[in-house]
Amino acid sequence: MNKSFVNLENTANRPDGVYKQVIDRIKDDGVCPFCPEHLGRYHKKPIVTDGRYWILTDNMYPYKGAKHHILLIHKRHIEAIVDVLPEAWSELLELVRVEAKKRSIAGGTFYLRFGDTSYTGASVTHLHANLISPDIDSKDREPILTRVG
Ligand SMILES: [Zn+2]
Repeated sequence: MNKSFVNLENTANRPDGVYKQVIDRIKDDGVCPFCPEHLGRYHKKPIVTDGRYWILTDNMYPYKGAKHHILLIHKRHIEAIVDVLPEAWSELLELVRVEAKKRSIAGGTFYLRFGDTSYTGASVTHLHANLISPDIDSKDREPILTRVG
């Protein structure tokens, strides 16, 4: 069996089914959708920042209720947190700081998904982080929930 770069089971918390179809197609393609050579094939949002270690872009499939759902994708394909270099950690935090300031994000959640997707709830194995801020002015506001494991 070929290595899979996606985990279909972790799309179950996405209600509309579109995301699951996308991940299903990527699984059939047998490639990592977050590796730079494939990213443009699956990801149609502009790259906001192309750093030395990270790409910062908006999530194509933001969580319902999110005003900002930003992805920070490690540029080299890694999955383990121990493979993040100290310089990469520094850049990651700086990118988050700059973007939060630029977008005037008053509050939100920032988390990193790494390692075996059975533990993380990630649909893509390639190490990445999420910066999410809710739209608190939305009339039908509900809590944004995400999966861990
Ligand atoms: Zn990758």
